[in-house]
Amino acid sequence: MDADDRGCPKCGSTETDVGTISTTGGGLSKMFDIQTNSFRVVSCVDCGYSELYRDAGSRGSDIVDVFLG
Ligand SMILES: [Zn+2]
Repeated sequence: MDADDRGCPKCGSTETDVGTISTTGGGLSKMFDIQTNSFRVVSCVDCGYSELYRDAGSRGSDIVDVFLG
């Protein structure tokens, strides 16, 4: 894929914000059928589109690249 095609899947923006969700037995953990885990959330700053990634530790910085394609 050409570098110029990178960006938000919805609007094409490359402005992202990364947050973290920790699940400790609430609704999310039931939804994903897990006990306790953390997830990274990459959100497009422009349109708000977000993708959820299971926290992979050292690969944390890579999820923005995954999001942007
Ligand atoms: Zn967007």
